[in-house]
Amino acid sequence: MTHQFDTVIHGGTLVTAGETFKGDIAISDGKIACIAERIEGAERRIDATGRLVMPGGIEAHCHIAQESSSGVMSADDYYTGSVSAAFGGNSCFVPFAAQHRGQTIASVIETYDGRAAPNSVIDYSYHLIVSDPTPSVLADELPRAFAKGITSFKVFMTYDLMNVGDAGLLDILTVAKAHGALTMVHAENNDMVKWMNARLSAAGATAPKYHAISRPELAEEEAIHRAISLAKLVDAPLFVVHVSTRGGAAIVAREKEAGTRIFAETCPQYLAFTRSDLDRPGMEGAKFICSPPLRDRQTQEALWKHVSGGTFDSVSSDHAPYRFDETGKFLNGIDAPYPKIANGMPGIAARLPYLFSEGVLTGRITLQQFVAQSSSNAARIFGLTSKGSLMPGHDADIAIWDPELRRIVRHEDQHDAMDYTPFDGMELTGAPVTVMSRGALVVHDGELHARRGQGRFVARAPSGSGPMRGHRAPEFDAASAYGTDIRP
Ligand SMILES: [Zn+2]
Repeated sequence: MTHQFDTVIHGGTLVTAGETFKGDIAISDGKIACIAERIEGAERRIDATGRLVMPGGIEAHCHIAQESSSGVMSADDYYTGSVSAAFGGNSCFVPFAAQHRGQTIASVIETYDGRAAPNSVIDYSYHLIVSDPTPSVLADELPRAFAKGITSFKVFMTYDLMNVGDAGLLDILTVAKAHGALTMVHAENNDMVKWMNARLSAAGATAPKYHAISRPELAEEEAIHRAISLAKLVDAPLFVVHVSTRGGAAIVAREKEAGTRIFAETCPQYLAFTRSDLDRPGMEGAKFICSPPLRDRQTQEALWKHVSGGTFDSVSSDHAPYRFDETGKFLNGIDAPYPKIANGMPGIAARLPYLFSEGVLTGRITLQQFVAQSSSNAARIFGLTSKGSLMPGHDADIAIWDPELRRIVRHEDQHDAMDYTPFDGMELTGAPVTVMSRGALVVHDGELHARRGQGRFVARAPSGSGPMRGHRAPEFDAASAYGTDIRP
């Protein structure tokens, strides 16, 4: 007997960024075919009684098979990274393809295609990190990347080998705007950090805990304000990644209120940990080194308010996995000073269980916000037009959650290539039990069902950042510029 549908998920509670309702969902040819109160038949029927059926998570900030600017390769490749993402409820991710100085954009994309295509078990795209905005990159190579469906560019305001400077940022914002691409920014004041590093070094302060001191809150606040000012000058949209400070979040909130086209995210680590974790015994603190650094309790509370209140469009993991050994954190020796310890924390599998347990179940966010911040907003902002919702015709990228499953976080349940999780020992309620990517089971009842390489590259549409809101700087008004038109 042939069936009308490949799969029916029945008896569950469907949750989208807009609503919650009881219903069955039918899947055919990798797409959501229809939703109804009751759907019979299908080759495969999945019982979702007592469970939540949601758009699969979209991880929009993670570092997979990526060399850092100092040359350390992340522990996860596209196989382990995507498997870990799927166990954490994600059906799509957008890691970075990183240009290092001297590399052409075409060679960077080719390198990452070679790393991703044979290995990923979920669909993927890349944000392109631009560290070398040469005239050819700006005029020719970025537009070509854009034409391939890579519609977001990330720039750094910090790290000597990545920092493009204010003029470089203006150039990239201008090219991005011309094509409908979105510029993402890591905002920290490079000179402030370097100056703090020099003083700490002179004082012999090299333990992991000094990492937090070396990157002041003001360094982030100043750089966020500056990045937004640069974006406003050329009237280009901007996405501020991993906001970690009260002051930074307040600036974002104020600008959103004023109608500036700005987006922002924070990460679970800034909600879950503080800089006291950097002061754990021995070198344990190295596990918590990431940039921007962990802050304090008051910051956590303030950031949660901004998660609840909508300042943050998404909560992303910033998964940057470096093992707690000489291949990762201690590439420069087991007692390396903090600036020479690999910088980043893993968390791609923990992101959504953490956000569900600490966000939804505590009443800080609604189920709708959970779906928006874990999936739908990233789909809209980054141009993943067939993902992030349960609409008929969309990709059947679905996560089925058991909202009552209580678990202690253990490293072995992260399914990554790491040797620790910072979330170890945390008790969380609610977990994804089934994850589908374009209708294919990736994870089901705790087992991996995916075939290596089944994930596909997704060519993204221009950013869904919306129309111009008219922030034109008066200096670009020909009338006030003595008739000269130099508009970007
Ligand atoms: Zn990152």
